[in-house]
Order: sequence, then C-alpha cells, then structure tokens
Amino acid sequence: MPMTSSMFAKRTGALVYAPRAISPFIEAAAKAGRKIRRFNLGDPAAFGFAAPPHIIEAAQAALKEQKHQRYLVSSRGDPCLVDAIAAREKVHPDSVFVTNGLTDGIDMVIGALVNPGDNILLPTPCYSLYESKVKFYGGIPKTYACHENWEPDTKDIERKITRRTKAIVIVNPNNPTGAIYSRHAIMKIMEIASRHRLLVFADLIYDQLAFNGASVPDIREFASDCLLVCGNGISKNYFFPGARVGYLAVHGKESKVKNELKKILLDMCFVRLSPTNAYMQQAALAAFTNPSSHLATYLPLLEQRSNTLVQCALEIDGFKAIRPQGAFYSFIKLPDSKEFKRRFKTDKEFVYGLVEQTGIATVQGSGFLKPGYFRTVNLAPPDEIKQAFSEIRDFVQKEV
Ligand code: PLP
Repeated sequence: MPMTSSMFAKRTGALVYAPRAISPFIEAAAKAGRKIRRFNLGDPAAFGFAAPPHIIEAAQAALKEQKHQRYLVSSRGDPCLVDAIAAREKVHPDSVFVTNGLTDGIDMVIGALVNPGDNILLPTPCYSLYESKVKFYGGIPKTYACHENWEPDTKDIERKITRRTKAIVIVNPNNPTGAIYSRHAIMKIMEIASRHRLLVFADLIYDQLAFNGASVPDIREFASDCLLVCGNGISKNYFFPGARVGYLAVHGKESKVKNELKKILLDMCFVRLSPTNAYMQQAALAAFTNPSSHLATYLPLLEQRSNTLVQCALEIDGFKAIRPQGAFYSFIKLPDSKEFKRRFKTDKEFVYGLVEQTGIATVQGSGFLKPGYFRTVNLAPPDEIKQAFSEIRDFVQKEV
C-alpha cells in the first residue's frame, strides 16, 4: 500500500507562524536581485543591538567549565538561575520553570490547559504563536477586542467567556502594537479571571522596554485571588534571542489547582530532560543578577526609531498608526480606499507583493488575528527606515 498524507496528524495543519511563513518569498526576492530588509522578525541582534558584554562573557566562561557539559540534575533549570528568577518574580523556587525560550513556555502552558474544544482568550491583535499553539492542541483561539489605543476591552473579555474557556492571555507590552496596557485594564482582567476561575497568562517578554521613562504596570500585584503564570526571558529585554532562554513563574495564592499546575509543568520539564542548554542558562543568570544598564542606551534608540517609523508611515496616503509605547514593533492600518482594495484584496497580498517588488519583508495583520494591517519592526536605523518607507510609498502609489 502506498503511503498517503492521511498518515500525518491533522493538527500539523495548525502550524502556521506568519512572521516566518514569508521566508520562501524573501528568498525568491533575493534571487531576483532585490535588496532584502527583514522587517518581519523581532530580532534586535540582526540590527546591531548586541547583548550586554557581561552576559556574553558568562556564557563564554561556562563553556570552559566541565560541570556544564553534563545533564542538569534539575530539569526545572540550573538551581542558581531558578533562585535568581524566583527572587525577581518574588515566588518560591518551586514555582519557577526555565524553558527553551518563552516559546517553549507558551507551548507548555497551552499544552497543560487545552483539551480539544476548549478555548483560550487572546487579544486582537495577538502575537502569532498563540493561535497556532492553541489550535495545535485542538483548542479554539477566541479573540477579545481591543480599543482604538489597543487597550483590552474588558467588557468584551467578559462577553467572550464560555464554559470551555480556560485562560486569558495578555501580552504587555504588546506585540504587534507596541501598546502598554494600563493598570486599570490589568486589574480588571485579573478580577474577571478570578470571578470566572480562569488562569491568566501574562507574556512579559518586553516588560523592560517601555519608552520615555514609563513602566509596565506590575500584574503580580493583583495575583492574590488568581492563578497567574508570567512568562519572560532574555530574548528581548536583554537583546539575546539566540540564547533561547525563557522561563515561567507561577503566581497566586496557594491552592490545590496551583499545586497541580506546578506538578504538570515539572512533569513537562522531566520529559524534556533539561531545559535550554547549560551555557546559556549562565548567560541568563548574569542577565538577571546585574543591572540592565544597556537600556539607558538602547531605549532612546528604540524610541527614536519607532517615532521615525510611525512618522514615515503616516506620510503615506491612507496609512494609519499609533505611536508605540514600548517593545519594537509598529502595527499599521492599510488604506480603506476602493482603489487600494482593488489592487490588494487582502493584507497578505499587500505584504507578499511588497516583498516581491521591493525586498521589504513585513507581516500581514491577519497573521496576528487582525486583518487589514501590517506589522513592521522598528529596529533599523532611521535612514534605513526612511528609505524603506519611501519605497513602500512608491509601491503603494504605483500605477497598475
Ligand atoms: N512572546 C512574544 C510576545 C514574542 O514576541 C516572542 C518572540 O517574538 C516570544 C514570546 C518568544 O520569545 P523567545 O525568543 O523567548 O522564545
């Protein structure tokens, strides 16, 4: 009997990650001689933002130590790193789980919660990975609305809760909008979650990247009645995505359910033997136990670049965008005009046409559950941003 595609699991169809699905089209554009601008990936290292030297040196020193060549005795993570994370999260070390990037932590939490048919509430727009992971486990990604300034609409969250809702996800600062949710919205979400007995997953991977002296409201303050899992890592705040170190920290008052969750997460750690590699755990230890002095240089640069980008976007007829308050993305609304819609039936057509014609790679809003927009990183130097947006304007205004 010949093999057929029915031998593969249907869930593999859920494995869609828009920021990378464009890669073959980038390669095709490169082959056609276009100058490639990878504004599709949130990789600060690709734009010259180096991880702080003490973090790199810690990884280099670890490579020379024989003790880091063995399996870690603790699947939870290197005990020194676990203690450092516990201290910054203000939880007991048995509530900490080191992961292979936060990506791995997101997979663990969703895998721990979702039975087929369950739903998880996601903001609109939402970082692409969540939709894919929820579907992969047979769940339903249910979206809640955000207001015009991208602040979550808490009334909509409450409306969307069903018997099968397991959790509310928040991403703060947000990818793809760069918005920082207010204290009030966070407090309200925690109150709703505790009333409906839902878990809150707070993705805080950008939480040190707030512009203009602002800070991200601390969701842990409201965790007393609620089961809260915070996810973080060194990819963004410490500009070291190649290290692949993230973590989960479980918060909230002691309960049977909390203990069960911690047991499940630890079992998940056991079946992957060790979390991310030992050397990079030493890098993360150096990151979490030293001041984040790199931010004094990097934050003004990020803010300047994001302001330049939004300014350039607003100069294009019909484009709309709100200034990001943090992180390193802008989420730009495409024109509503008939003329634009005649040329580009979907946001994906626009994004794929753009990379083909200009080599500028971005991501369609539908890849973040919000059609009609596109996301770009704000990481390039101002001149490169200006040049790219002048090419985007020519592309949009081109007679066809
Ligand atoms: N969460 C958000 C909101 C992200 O934007 C990203 C990466 O872009 C991740 C998680 C994954 O981070 P990591 O590199 O730690 O896997």
